[in-house]
Amino acid sequence: MSESEKREAMLYEGGEGQQVRCRLCGHECVIAPGKTGICRVRENQGGKLVSLNYDALVAVNVDPIEKKPLFHFLPGTQSLSVAAAGCNFQCAFCQNWQISQAPRTGRIVGGQAVPPEDLVAAAEQRRCASISYTYTEPTIFFELAYDTARLASERSIRNCFVSNGFMTPRAVRTIAPYLDAINVDLKAFRDETYRRVCKARLEPVLTCLKELVAAGVWVEVTTLVVPGMNDSQAELDDIAGFIAGELGRDVPWHVSRFHGDYQWSDVPSTPPATLARALEAGRSAGLKYVYAGNVPGDENEDTRCPACSSTLIRRVGFTIRENRLSGGACGDCGQVIAGLWQ
Ligand code: SF4
Repeated sequence: MSESEKREAMLYEGGEGQQVRCRLCGHECVIAPGKTGICRVRENQGGKLVSLNYDALVAVNVDPIEKKPLFHFLPGTQSLSVAAAGCNFQCAFCQNWQISQAPRTGRIVGGQAVPPEDLVAAAEQRRCASISYTYTEPTIFFELAYDTARLASERSIRNCFVSNGFMTPRAVRTIAPYLDAINVDLKAFRDETYRRVCKARLEPVLTCLKELVAAGVWVEVTTLVVPGMNDSQAELDDIAGFIAGELGRDVPWHVSRFHGDYQWSDVPSTPPATLARALEAGRSAGLKYVYAGNVPGDENEDTRCPACSSTLIRRVGFTIRENRLSGGACGDCGQVIAGLWQ
């Protein structure tokens, strides 16, 4: 294992004395010399902001793109999936907390040094159509994602983020030319929930989502429906209404079943009736593509034509059982289905 690189961060400004202000995510931390930002992986070293985890990868796997989940993006293809340790959120129910919260709990940032050239070569060798920056929050390993995505784009490999959507508009505009698709976790529609449960805020996420759509990135949204946190009818209606009204009815919404984890291991799983309410909230708001997540075998994993209701892509978990799309359109009635299909 070679030692990982420490790299000057992108998107920051110098401030008073040797203070710096990071402009990468919605926290916009002001960082004194010798200190790190909220994510704990960006450090002010004598007035220069440094990424401590530039290429320190803690995960490199090949996953089906359906696992992200991205359902309207190159279905049935594999995605090289990479992560560095750390996160700018502190969600009490995080399912990857061992790596996302590692820097916060004083454990070493660690990881294996894998430079962008090697990642792109690995994607090619393993016949991956895309590279996904996932598992933890790609924003906090932005420099590696940016360098890799640029290189991958030149080799016709697509790039995907799986993100909490807390990027600043400036960060979105920086990565957008190389970012093909993103799944954003819209965790709630109450600022109080974001502050209490995730130590973050709602408004930057909504702004980021609108910026991503405006920048032409293919966007899918996921909401983990957590009993007692975001499962009221009013809140589900608010999320669905925001997606349909502000992002567009073509944006797929994945409503996923929650299973207890991390500090919320005692919270019960989402009842099937609650998930059904969430699906219905999406359809009532006019969303054309609403999917159930974490319920393998459920018919709501399938893609149906919004015009004639034919089943076009049949899925079981992350596996495609049948794909009847024809050139990005319904094989029966010819309706164009939004997404990036080839
Ligand atoms: S990425 Fe976000 S949390 Fe980390 S230093 Fe920058 S503004 Fe702060």
